[in-house]
Amino acid sequence: MALPSVRIDPADDPSIQELVALRPWLKYDALDGLLMDGVPLNGIADGAGTPTWVTSAATIRARYDALAGALNEAGLNAGIHYAVKANDARATLDLVARLGAGADVVSGGELRKALHAGIPAAKIVYSGVGKSEAELRLALEHDIGQINVESAEELAMIAGLAASLGRTARIALRVNPDVDAETNDKISTGRATDKFGIAYDEAAALYRHAASLPHIQTLGLATHIGSQITTLAPFRAAFARLSDLIVVLRGEGLRVSTMDCGGGLGIPYRNEPVSSPTGLAAAIKGAFHNLDVRVAVEPGRWLVGPASVLLASVVLVKQTPHMRFIVLDAAMNDLVRPAMYEAWHGIVPVSAAAAMAPASPTTIVGPVCESSDTFARNRDLPPLAPNARVAILDAGAYGRVMSSTYNARPLAAEAWVDGGRWSITRERQPIEALWAGERLPA
Ligand SMILES: *Cc1c(COP(=O)(O)O)cnc(C)c1O
Repeated sequence: MALPSVRIDPADDPSIQELVALRPWLKYDALDGLLMDGVPLNGIADGAGTPTWVTSAATIRARYDALAGALNEAGLNAGIHYAVKANDARATLDLVARLGAGADVVSGGELRKALHAGIPAAKIVYSGVGKSEAELRLALEHDIGQINVESAEELAMIAGLAASLGRTARIALRVNPDVDAETNDKISTGRATDKFGIAYDEAAALYRHAASLPHIQTLGLATHIGSQITTLAPFRAAFARLSDLIVVLRGEGLRVSTMDCGGGLGIPYRNEPVSSPTGLAAAIKGAFHNLDVRVAVEPGRWLVGPASVLLASVVLVKQTPHMRFIVLDAAMNDLVRPAMYEAWHGIVPVSAAAAMAPASPTTIVGPVCESSDTFARNRDLPPLAPNARVAILDAGAYGRVMSSTYNARPLAAEAWVDGGRWSITRERQPIEALWAGERLPA
């Protein structure tokens, strides 16, 4: 049973009961099975089929309130810009808009989605290393709140476009603090060798230059060092460098009124200890409290990650001489995080009886023709028969947004749970949509 890529000892895995206990929006009912905010997931699977993403609105609301509360209690007058790329479902954007959040967008498409959801342009921040001319023009025409500039080259582009449009671009410089976020390599963004932000040693000169340009209003600085950061040390290190830079800029008589602290706060996929919004607020306060700057945060994963499950059904159970494989109807094209980042997601049966049954090592895979289409290796799970349902936990962030139609698999349906009711918020993609728009060559 030697699987070379087993890195995590299943003996350390949280049990099904421990996973559910730490997520109070989920609960087992002896008869109805796993409930989300009181709504049986079995009922949603009956109505919507599987695979289906299911989101708890109450969980997003509670997490938003907890984050806003932590920032308030730290005495921070902080703006919250939801990082749209984590989950850009219309229902999610509508909810965060109504909660009063702004948006952090990284493409013209996300900018349009945020505006369409009713997020005021003034509360939109636009980040990203490769904003095209058309995208920057869109941002300037809508007069969005802030463009986070990631290079000298981009600053020149923005200055030129703003002049030609007769607009003033409000910008912050995104600074690369050369800090290791101690997270997965693919989602680290704040090391000197990463493509993001302006090199720390060049930031002061570029800020001085930006401040001298017509049609550019320099608001301040921004940083974002990565995602799924579970300890405070990388945040503290980055914020300390940014606070030093603010002091340097002010020493030169330059105005710095905004400090955008980015996103990145991690969540306990495996019930591991992770730092809290209270800790993050303390780190922000520690670095910037006596600088009189308006601070902002850009949370994505922390707000929406735990709020959704990917509901799937067992297609069949395949016993080989080496392993018991459970093949689901969900696959890497739906949720790519395990394949792409070797991410660990809790997987629990929907049936309460199954959840109590004795567990044994199982590998849970999808039907896609790639060995990377594996949700979990060597995971202790009870026996699950064909058509049994499972919930893949913490699938709300970087889930549906990274889906593809690989293997001609239509995009999954989406359901929304709120106030004890559920509704479909996205139909399963019709198969015809997979070839609509294609033409045979002339
Ligand atoms: C992705 C991203 C975020 C959000 O990161 P999370 O880890 O989801 O909080 C925030 N800001 C920027 C610039 C990003 O690229």
